[in-house]
Amino acid sequence: MTELRKDYFGEKFVIMNSERSGRPVEIKPPVTRSSTRCALCAGIKDKGKPAVVVDQKSRLISSDRPSDLKDDEMLSHLIPVGRHLIVAITNHDDKVQTLKVQKLSQILSILQETARSLSSRKGGGYAATFLNYGVGYGDDGAISSFHPNFEILTLPIIPPAIEYEIKAVEKSMYDLGICPICRVLSLETGGPRQILSTTHFLAFAPWAATHPFEFWITPKTHQTSFLEISDKEIYDLALILRSTLGGLTRAVGDIPFTVVFHNSPQGDKDLELHWHLEAYPLVSIRAGLEEGMSVFLNDTTPELAAETLGRASRKELAALVGVV
Ligand SMILES: [Zn+2]
Ligand SMILES: [Zn+2]
Ligand SMILES: [Zn+2]
Repeated sequence: MTELRKDYFGEKFVIMNSERSGRPVEIKPPVTRSSTRCALCAGIKDKGKPAVVVDQKSRLISSDRPSDLKDDEMLSHLIPVGRHLIVAITNHDDKVQTLKVQKLSQILSILQETARSLSSRKGGGYAATFLNYGVGYGDDGAISSFHPNFEILTLPIIPPAIEYEIKAVEKSMYDLGICPICRVLSLETGGPRQILSTTHFLAFAPWAATHPFEFWITPKTHQTSFLEISDKEIYDLALILRSTLGGLTRAVGDIPFTVVFHNSPQGDKDLELHWHLEAYPLVSIRAGLEEGMSVFLNDTTPELAAETLGRASRKELAALVGVV
């Protein structure tokens, strides 16, 4: 059966081709890893730390000559205020999906502290936070595609994907008096798309996943930002993130993926979002429909993805907590 599914917030469409589910997805070749020292390695002096913050000065987007910029209705410019910081995991050969939980937890704490300090600056913008694995800017760029790192890029706008979800929150609060992600949690907990549950977080494949094996990790209580969570919650996040990414690699292979943090913008109580992580394994090609129409085609139903990832992630979790 082929169905057209709408996402939780009501405006994104995915053609879910469940007849093809179960057939092997098109897998990109395994990620190859550079064995030579990269630009990040060269900048890391203190090998004793779990991660190091690197300021990507070459990627600063700023202008001190605003009068040169064009600005009319169709060609508008904002004055960018961006900073681009890299939280680089010290060892080039580590992978997030195979790290010890304790180490990943320390790295997430450094990421939180760094994003906090960027967001607390006046006019600091939105701190877009993400992790790319096996994709990136190539070895000739300032960031290695192969050296594991999280990135924070401050933007003078609220990114459209975040704004889209904030609008859905406003509508749901107005119409129903409840946060849409809290509704999603009650819908997905214990259901056919659940992948893993820990003390504070739920991992599940979203109803209208735009990528094969896409999954989200959501705090079980209503929280607005990763920047606000406690050390205990960070440890639990490291546990579920490590288990699910490890499960993805175990079940599907050493494939490229991205993980993005969907946080509320800092300092504006009116723009609120129940924060979560979205992980997109990069195993399918985006073509005309996706690129040109923003309609997505997914041949792996989230129900099948959850079954596959659930089994593999539970094994990872069991091994991590010593129940084998
Ligand atoms: Zn390196
Ligand atoms: Zn909520
Ligand atoms: Zn989201």
